[in-house]
Amino acid sequence: MDGMNIVGDLFGAGKMFLPQVVKSARVMKKAVAYLTPYLEQEKKGGGASAGKILLATVKGDVHDIGKNIVGVVLACNNFEIIDMGVMIPKEAILDKAVEENVDIIGLSGLITPSLDEMVDVAKEMEKRGMKIPLLIGGATTSQIHTAVKIDTQYSGPVFHVLDASKSVPVSSSLLGEDGDAFAAAKKKAYADIREQYASRKETKRYISYEQARKNKFQADWANYQATKPALNGEIAFTEFPNEEIRKYIDWTPFFSTWQLKGKYPKIFENQIIGKEAKKLFEDANKMLDWLIEDKKLISNAVIGLYPANSVEDDTVEIYADDSREKVIKKFHFLRQQGQKGSGLPNLSLADFIAPKDSGVADYMGFFAVTTGIGIEPLLEEFEREHDDYNSIMLKAVADRLAEAFAELMHERVRKEFWGYDAAEIFSNEELISEKYQGIRPAPGYPACPDHTEKPPLFELIHAEKNTGIYLTDSNAMYPASSVSGFYIGHPESKYFGLGKIAKDQVEVYAQRKEMEIEKVEKWLAPVLNYDT
Ligand code: SAH
Repeated sequence: MDGMNIVGDLFGAGKMFLPQVVKSARVMKKAVAYLTPYLEQEKKGGGASAGKILLATVKGDVHDIGKNIVGVVLACNNFEIIDMGVMIPKEAILDKAVEENVDIIGLSGLITPSLDEMVDVAKEMEKRGMKIPLLIGGATTSQIHTAVKIDTQYSGPVFHVLDASKSVPVSSSLLGEDGDAFAAAKKKAYADIREQYASRKETKRYISYEQARKNKFQADWANYQATKPALNGEIAFTEFPNEEIRKYIDWTPFFSTWQLKGKYPKIFENQIIGKEAKKLFEDANKMLDWLIEDKKLISNAVIGLYPANSVEDDTVEIYADDSREKVIKKFHFLRQQGQKGSGLPNLSLADFIAPKDSGVADYMGFFAVTTGIGIEPLLEEFEREHDDYNSIMLKAVADRLAEAFAELMHERVRKEFWGYDAAEIFSNEELISEKYQGIRPAPGYPACPDHTEKPPLFELIHAEKNTGIYLTDSNAMYPASSVSGFYIGHPESKYFGLGKIAKDQVEVYAQRKEMEIEKVEKWLAPVLNYDT
């Protein structure tokens, strides 16, 4: 335990790195598990816990690598961790917090709908008259969101925690002697952030949805001919060989999952973290060897290519066949409404699909891939062995495989199934830097942030039946190591960020999707330029 304190201190001081911390924690956990029967007596005399912290990934969200890392790091610093897992409803979180008499609640989430879920937890805490601190963490969370949307709902302490290493000083300060003053200072800081945010919002200019549509990106459709795909409809791949997928891995994000910053493979030359990065890389590859040799994880995919045209600027119709008479699905896209510099368009992904009245026979594609089928028993085994290091490693590796599988399938689509660039030859580095023609935007990402476009995508290509991926209440994909999205082939297509949109667009969008405005506003909360 004393040793772990040193590990915790060194990590806090930037002298030890996350993989080392997690491996040290593994040694401690295994030792503690072995010694526990002998220690029970002593423990009754009262341990030296720094405090009890409940951690949970909120309802509808399946992502937990970050939360698990936070749990390990806090445990290293003598905090007692109660980890409820993923997809936990607010009632369960708060009941457990009361039952266990915890000192702090930590919420985690990765996808944008989780932001709203966290707001609901804060509201519920206020309603129940709770006073304990609420920590907020995860990829899409931010200081601003925490200040504007969460801190305003709960009169108790609220803290956005940027990463695992920050969770320790924040928790220690909150539970320390000057905890109240520390919390009060943060309340004040968040009030300041809200003020700044409000004044900044007023200076940002938006144009009407009608103007934005007039300023859409206009491709030269009169001189455009789309390649007719070799495939019409869907095709599924089951138990796709992971040894093929492995070649497409982009390793750089893997290191950032482990909080080692640097580009692969240059990261190995880094004076400070190079050696640790190398060890981590070797462990990941050993795990891949093991997964592949023993066929531990199953990878499935489905892709679909269809005749498609855009209508009314921002809707894309998908047709049963080239007669283009029968619409089998509609997809709805959002358009940038921020004021642009002269000559710059207000983009919507629909701009890259030929309008119906252009007479161009255009096409669009869809995909869903997973590399996480069968992951649960492996994770349970690691849990039984008190092995957080391999548990986190497995998830990180499976996530890498999923992105690699998406890259691999996209390449096959361009060369083979759609065939608009049959002759392309790119190295993995070139694929990673997107040198190829076309894009594969994913619902929930900046160009198309609406997660409710995932259900129609899944229906169209029968993604659940074909791959085993299912969608949660928040339209997160389970298994977490899954990717889904659209294929757009136009040479000028590119990724962009939607930015914020105004109510006039939301109204039209709700009408087109036949959804209630309030529902649309809930899903699109992070991209609205107005308060609801
Ligand atoms: N090589 C990376 C790829 C993931 S990020 C990795 O292994 O992690 C790139 C993917 O995110 C894209 O292929 C696309 O599916 C999605 N994406 C990125 N930017 C986007 C945007 N602005 N809008 C929609 N999707 C986007």
